[in-house]
Amino acid sequence: MKERLVQPELLDHLPSNDPRAIGSRTDLRRVNWFMRNGRILVEALRESSPGAHKRRVLELGAGDGTLLLRLARELGPDWRETEAVLLDRQNIVGPATLRAFGDVGWSVKLLEADVFETLKAEGSHYDVIVTNLFLHHFSDEQLKKLFSLVADKAKAFVAVEPHRDLCSLFFSRLVGLLGANSVTRHDAVVSVRAGFAFRELSRFWPDAENWSVTERKAGAFSHLFSARSRDNRHSVALSASRSGGPARKPITIVGGGLAGLTLGIGLRQRGIPVTVWEAGTYPRHRVCGEFISGRGQDALRRLGVLEPLIAAGAIPACSAAFFNQYTASPIRHLPNSAYCISRFTLDQLMAQRFLELGGCLNQDHRLRGETEAEGLVFATGRRPQPTENGWRWFGLKAHARNIQLHADLEMHALPSGYVGLCRLKGDEVNVCGLFRKKAGADSSFSWQEMLHGPSESILHSRLAEAVFDESSFCSVAGLSLYPRRAVDHVECCVGDALTMTPPVTGNGMSMAFESAELAVEPVVCYSERELSWSQAREIIARACDNAFRSRLFWARWLQCMMFSPRMQGAWGGVALRSGWLWHLLSRKTR
Ligand SMILES: Cc1cc2nc3c(=O)[nH]c(=O)nc-3n(C[C@H](O)[C@H](O)[C@H](O)COP(=O)(O)OP(=O)(O)OC[C@H]3O[C@@H](n4cnc5c(N)ncnc54)[C@H](O)[C@@H]3O)c2cc1C
Repeated sequence: MKERLVQPELLDHLPSNDPRAIGSRTDLRRVNWFMRNGRILVEALRESSPGAHKRRVLELGAGDGTLLLRLARELGPDWRETEAVLLDRQNIVGPATLRAFGDVGWSVKLLEADVFETLKAEGSHYDVIVTNLFLHHFSDEQLKKLFSLVADKAKAFVAVEPHRDLCSLFFSRLVGLLGANSVTRHDAVVSVRAGFAFRELSRFWPDAENWSVTERKAGAFSHLFSARSRDNRHSVALSASRSGGPARKPITIVGGGLAGLTLGIGLRQRGIPVTVWEAGTYPRHRVCGEFISGRGQDALRRLGVLEPLIAAGAIPACSAAFFNQYTASPIRHLPNSAYCISRFTLDQLMAQRFLELGGCLNQDHRLRGETEAEGLVFATGRRPQPTENGWRWFGLKAHARNIQLHADLEMHALPSGYVGLCRLKGDEVNVCGLFRKKAGADSSFSWQEMLHGPSESILHSRLAEAVFDESSFCSVAGLSLYPRRAVDHVECCVGDALTMTPPVTGNGMSMAFESAELAVEPVVCYSERELSWSQAREIIARACDNAFRSRLFWARWLQCMMFSPRMQGAWGGVALRSGWLWHLLSRKTR
């Protein structure tokens, strides 16, 4: 949909006691229900402010206060004793609403003022600032100003706004079917046009390095933006005030792959005692395309690992090309550059960083035992599954020299799987493939034959002169690529232990970094006795599901496409050349 268009809304210019304004405010409750904004806000608030006590919450553009009241009821006993400030240009909160806040243990203060002036003048700080259907009233310039004031005053910020796309626009024209009056019917369309898409709000957030920022479509018509401070000022203050209090509970991480080490590093940065148990040793080769793309790079930067990785030889990748056996796509520019680095180096470097931060790392030891024990996080990688729908899935990887690539990443679809090629340090190339075979079918091929592909394929000619480094060869079987929901696991897990994404997306490592980073704050809160283990586990699971649900859906679709027999025919040629499909899938799968 086109660019944002901010236009005046009728409700903002009607006196609060005008019958049309009163009717429109009633309509808004129905609209919020229809958009599921209450539910979206409750989940986002739980994630943004886990484990705090006696929270201070500020609502911007609070209206009649009924939405926050609904949130207060749904947030339940964990949020009792919250002090809420309801800020709006008009004071229209009724006495019944105020009494109802008291019934759920919240105290409420009303502020009738302009949001910019209040935030500039106010000395108070808040645990969370929350707002619903408010930001879209402002121009980009005003949002920038507002965000810098909010970031100064709060540890977390959560906003739900209209999502700007054709589907929302279409339904905004139908709000009359919900019984909405003329004011609401007008304002609904104006709101969607001024709403947000992609990561438009994130651009305005200041100091992104020190905040964990999430922005995405939520529900069918809403757009969620949330930001949580990573700034340790608050934690340091808390720790200082608790220095005489009970010691922090120790955390055990099973699995020292990327997810386990990322979580270990994040926890050590917060001073939490952590032990990682790893069945293997470092360094070692792993089956992986060694292509890091997507938001995980930001997680690495924040953990202070990205710079050392670049120094250790991570290579930026800017272009990609897709192939079937006979046809090539044009060379495409990656929307955001990726990094390619050998896992031999990457895992070792992360293990070193964890040790430098004072973590305890036990290598060469496979841990077995209770899955639901408190303080135990599973980062054990894939959950082995011999067959899936009658297929055996397996991966092969080796490094090779003497390969001329046409793009930084090449992905070759074959009848039995796909093989990715990407440049590494020196003139080495990672050659990594995912394959499937019917259970019980002949498997007498050598790994080199599998990686070369059929003799008439483009891949085969690309690898004609390749010289493989046999010591780098590794394989893995029993892969299960069906997406899983984190909330369905009884144990707390991150990375592939939670779910695998098809390797064609080049996003599995990123999901390992991201899921581990999402786990840091709730695990810290558990360790500091602010959350029970089951609460922390639930928050992590929900956050991961929210972050990955849509990505996994699209990745599954892409995986099916790669294995469709039609991929090798004329249909595959058309799909490979489609710029629109390329942009859609590269955006949706990361
Ligand atoms: C063929 C293929 C190609 C891929 N290509 C890419 C790519 O190009 N880009 C990308 O981003 N992702 C890719 N991936 C995915 C990526 O490799 C994984 O998503 C990532 O490694 C997951 O990290 P993890 O830490 O969750 O698991 P792992 O890296 O598998 O680590 C799990 C660790 O746990 C240890 N462990 C397990 N059980 C125990 C136990 N009981 N006690 C102690 N230790 C234990 C294991 O030894 C292992 O070291 C690919 C995957 C495959 C199969």
